[in-house]
Amino acid sequence: MRPIIPDYLAEVLGEVEPDVSGAPAAYIPELAGADPERLGVALATVDGQVYGVGDVDVPFTIQSISKPFAYALALADRGFAPVLAKVGVEPSGEAFNEISLEHGTGRPLNPMINAGAITTHSLTAAADSGPAERVERVIEGLSAFAGRPLAVDEKVCASELAHAHRNLAIAHMLRSHDVLTQDPAVTVEGYTRQCALLVTTRDLAVMAATLANRGVNPVTGEQVVTEKVVRQVLSVMFSCGMYDAAGDWITQVGIPAKSGVAGGLIGSLPGRIGIATFSPRLDHHGNSVRGVSLFERLSSDMGLHLMGVPPTARAVLRSHHTTGTPPHAVRVLDLQGGIGFAEAERVVREVQNTTPAENRIAIDLTRVHSIDDVARRMILEITRRLTLDGHDVYLVDPETTLPDPDPGDGGHVTVVRETGEAVTAPARDTDGAPS
Ligand code: GLU
Repeated sequence: MRPIIPDYLAEVLGEVEPDVSGAPAAYIPELAGADPERLGVALATVDGQVYGVGDVDVPFTIQSISKPFAYALALADRGFAPVLAKVGVEPSGEAFNEISLEHGTGRPLNPMINAGAITTHSLTAAADSGPAERVERVIEGLSAFAGRPLAVDEKVCASELAHAHRNLAIAHMLRSHDVLTQDPAVTVEGYTRQCALLVTTRDLAVMAATLANRGVNPVTGEQVVTEKVVRQVLSVMFSCGMYDAAGDWITQVGIPAKSGVAGGLIGSLPGRIGIATFSPRLDHHGNSVRGVSLFERLSSDMGLHLMGVPPTARAVLRSHHTTGTPPHAVRVLDLQGGIGFAEAERVVREVQNTTPAENRIAIDLTRVHSIDDVARRMILEITRRLTLDGHDVYLVDPETTLPDPDPGDGGHVTVVRETGEAVTAPARDTDGAPS
């Protein structure tokens, strides 16, 4: 059989290929010379499957795509409060290299614009470490996200440093506000090395998938940062990741993302997938033209928009029926799928609207594959209240999908492997012990 997903990706690449609008970034001379025809797309699933089509193994510099990952490292190394005290989380609506800081505090608005990213770089590694250790920490940390050792493109780095007047101006301004406490030139050099790390589209897909996978690299299995850090990073990517085109991006693509001026673009869909594209021609915002088109197409074809409404919670209740004969009739609520708040609410409503006449009630979780914490507590509260109303409550849970089934005060639940056991179980006395 021909491989289905690579065939699909090749078809999508073929569609965007004729678009030669835009131009490679010119403000870094080395980048201006990049081959503009390069084009690649890669997907990495949260269980470590990587699909790539086109120029997915061609190395290019990561540039601004390093920003969310360095932000993750700063949060991990210094903690949330010290980082948030220095870098905000508000979308700026301005270009990536705008010289703008928050009024009053002098804080950069967010870690995705250069002012925020230069500050973030200074907050990586331990507080008492020197510039070389910070660069080392960033390289080691980004390599862990990629799942292989990354190296700096010294030519691009030198080329950017020779023209880094604007970033130097930003760093000096940050220093004047004491947001930056280290030497501005040295910090810009470290930040520029971070931007000059070489990655492939395949690496970027794995890095994005590590964010999608709660901070665990799905290929190496390494927990690179905590889930809490990942949530912060993805939130900021969602609102600030696409330079001054963030609003357009959220409405049309709806995936937390980050682009870089070398032509890379990543998207990370929590719990689902990491996506990366590469095409060096940029639009006037600095985003890859064909990369944006690819993401628009993938998001729409694959239903990836985060604001897309998930399948309705109604489906949680597979059936509601009675089994056995009185006095041992059992009212069975047969549930299915994954249960979160919306699904558990549907079950609560069903129980409340149709007060069961039967003494025995079984909640059948055999076809349920997951229950989140709030849903677990809601289901246990249903069992507690049913007990208080005088029912004998059974949880049919052969795979222990609902762990630690303690309904609390006055509740009692008997866990069985199949509904038949609820029919044949001895009746309980009012003290809650089987009689
Ligand atoms: N190194 C680049 C800069 O700071 C990164 C810019 C980008 O990719 O947006 O100008």
